[in-house]
This record gives sequence, structure tokens and C-alpha cells, in this order.
Amino acid sequence: DSYLAAIDAANPVLNAYVAVTPEKARAMARGSDARIAAGEAGTLEGIPLGIKDLFATEGVHTQACSHILDKFEPRYESTVTANLWTDGAVMLGKLNMDEFAMGSSNETSHYGPVINPWRRKDSNLDLVPGGSSGGSAAATAAHLCAGATATDTGGSIRQPAAFTGTVGIKPTYGRCSRWGTVAFASSLDQAGPIARDVRDAAILLRSMASSDPKDTTSVDHEVPDYEAAVGRSLKGLRIGIPKEYRIDGMPAEIEEVWQRGIAWMRDAGAEIVDVSLPHTKYALPAYYIVAPAEASSNLARYDGVRYGLRVPGKDVAEMYENTRAAGFGREVKRRIMIGTYVLSAGYYDAYYIRAQKVRTLIKRDFETVFADGIDALLTPATPSAAFGIADEDLASDPVKMYLNDIFTVTVNMAGLPGIAVPAGLSGEGTPLGLQLIGRPFDEETLFAAGAVIE
Ligand code: GLN
Repeated sequence: DSYLAAIDAANPVLNAYVAVTPEKARAMARGSDARIAAGEAGTLEGIPLGIKDLFATEGVHTQACSHILDKFEPRYESTVTANLWTDGAVMLGKLNMDEFAMGSSNETSHYGPVINPWRRKDSNLDLVPGGSSGGSAAATAAHLCAGATATDTGGSIRQPAAFTGTVGIKPTYGRCSRWGTVAFASSLDQAGPIARDVRDAAILLRSMASSDPKDTTSVDHEVPDYEAAVGRSLKGLRIGIPKEYRIDGMPAEIEEVWQRGIAWMRDAGAEIVDVSLPHTKYALPAYYIVAPAEASSNLARYDGVRYGLRVPGKDVAEMYENTRAAGFGREVKRRIMIGTYVLSAGYYDAYYIRAQKVRTLIKRDFETVFADGIDALLTPATPSAAFGIADEDLASDPVKMYLNDIFTVTVNMAGLPGIAVPAGLSGEGTPLGLQLIGRPFDEETLFAAGAVIE
């Protein structure tokens, strides 16, 4: 009830929830009461969570914040949310996001932007919460849920966590099932939690993760007790500092927070090692070929026949055109056009195949440093703190918006786990985050090292 009251009070301003489900929340909470009374409480019994609008929730609003999925309520539940309910969690509602998870500011949502609960010192300017999981980050930061599900294709868990002073982890590709999660770029998409601290993130991820026969890319590895890693000593760990992440024009405050993080790691007993990931500079351009290519293919299914919006036409082809013209927003259309272009005959080898080769080189960079005995890498999470809503510079130049992902996309390209942890405040008093990147399926080291930073 207190979370529902907080949503009623703050959501008209923050716009973090696109659907609130009070009846469902109360019914689930009554179920939790009964299980607690019977001594059968699950690990998340009665914990109220917000769910990103990308996860299919049975009978509840699931639109990926797109107009094309107008009024879509699936008849099935995503594996990730089903796992949370099995452990006793309670659903408060569905959270705002960039349309189809394409964006870094939550401004591409059909439901309008999310407002970051943080503001700059002495300023009334509304800031973005980051994207695409902006609703998940803002709701968690503003205590409109105890934690939230989110997804990360190129940074959409870690960048909004950094912009809102929350913790977000993208686990290793295959750790969580993608079944029932609206697909953006299937070889990059991973679910993970956004939480208020590292321990909460560890508890939530343990519940979300599973191998799943319905997603053949999910991996049959035992899910460890991540919470047990929080508080573990860093003695003997080797933390790599990749020199390529020191980009031109990086603000001094980002460099400072990075140096502070390095000092904290060292004080906690870790050895700091300078390393090189030479193909880093190609990650962003390669990502913006691979991700739109996969998106253009995944989004072909929205044809006005099977779900959501239908805008009639004189024949079926015109109906498709009218539906897709009216149903998709500008950024989604841009991605579909880029994707179909790079996959088309004549350009496929020059763009798509080449980007896939670059992806392999990026993956090998990481394999090399891990083979050299590095346990995790420490980098900034984002090249800046949260920026203003409707920033003119960014709105007019999509490539500038894409630069937000410069520190996060490499991790998705290589399928590795990455965590963003709050590490201090900018000169304006807004949150800054650091990122730790780990070996495949070694989320535990990220939780241990992340707990030292927060
Ligand atoms: N900002 C990136 C993009 O727009 C990443 C989005 C994401 O991780 N879902 O593609």
C-alpha cells in the first residue's frame, strides 16, 4: 500500500509507470501473507517490484512502449517474471522505456519521457533518467518500487542506473532466459535487475536467472548464491584498467571518479593492472550495424495482423504500410531502415559481415586480458552525468545520442557481464557511476567488487 501511494503521488511527475496494477499487487501480496503464515516464504516473498514494459506479463499491458503494440496483453508470462513470482515477488505495474528499448534517454517512448528524480544543484531543469530502462531506474531511485526488471542490449541497464544513482547489472549473455521478452537484437539482449544497492541486485538476479528450454541461448549453469559474494574480500583480485576507455574530451569529473574507484579497489586489496583492449574504438560503429540489423528482422512481425494496432488499407500491403507508418516512432523507423540497408544484397558483406568480424575481435580482446589473469575491468559507466530532457544538441544528432553507449556496448558485443554502481556525484550534484566488467558467468566478482564502490 505504501508503494502504491508513493506511485500515486509521484508518477504524475516522473512518468515512470505506464500501467499500475493495484488489484494484482494486492492479490499477490495476500498470497505472500498466506505463504509467510504457512512458513513457506520464497526468497522474494512480498517484495514489490516494477516490471519493464518489455517483459510479457499475462493479461497485463505489454507494449514495449510502442504504439504498434496498442492494447496488447499477452496470454503468457515471460520466464524472468515467472521466476520472480515463483519466489514470491509482487508486481506493482509496468515501467516506461524507450520504444522497443531503442534509446539512451527514455525520450523515444510512445508514453512520453521519464523524468529523473535527481536534479542539478540550484536548477529546475528536468533531467533524463537514461535509457532504455529509464522507468526502471527512475522508479527504483524514487522508491516507487523496491527494485525493477530491466534489459540491456547496448547499455540500457547500466547507463540509466548510472544516471539515477542505482545499481544495475547486465549478466552474461545466456544467464537469463529471453523467452517472453520483446526482442530487439537477439544476440545482444539480456535481462537484469536495477536495484538500490548491490545486495538487492544480487538477490534479484539470482531469482531472475535460469536455464530455460524455451530459450536455446540460455545456459545450463547452476545459478550461484550471488548475495554470498557481497562483502567477499578483493585480496588477490587483479583489476584491469583499459587505456582505450580514456577517450578524447572525457570530462574531468568522469576521470576523477574513475581514479577514486581505482583507489578504492587498491585499498580493498586488489592489484591494479593497466591493460589494452585495442578494438574498443570499433565497438560503437559495429554495434550500430549489428543491433539495427537484428532489430529490422525482429520487428518484421509487427504487421497489423497478429497483434496490436491495425490501420486499414485498400489491400493487405497497404494495411501493412499504414500500420507500420502509424505504429512505429522515428527512432524505431531509423533503426529498421539502417538494418534493412546493411542486410540488403550488395551491402551485406561490406557492413553486416564486417561488423560481425569486428565483434569477434572485440571478444578476443577481452579473452586475451582474462587469459592474462585479469579478473575484472574497471571503467566509467557513462561519458557524462544525466543530461537535460529535449537537449537540442542530442535531439538534432542521433549519432551524439549513440555516443552515450561508448563504455557499455563492448560488453554486449562480447556477451560479458557488466555492473554499474554509483560512485559519487558530479559537480552539479547528480550521480556518476562506475562499471565493472567480468569474465563470462563470473557475476560474483562483480558483486564483490561493486560492493566496495557503493
Ligand atoms: N542505447 C542503445 C541503443 O539505443 C542501447 C539500448 C539498449 O541497451 N536496449 O541501442
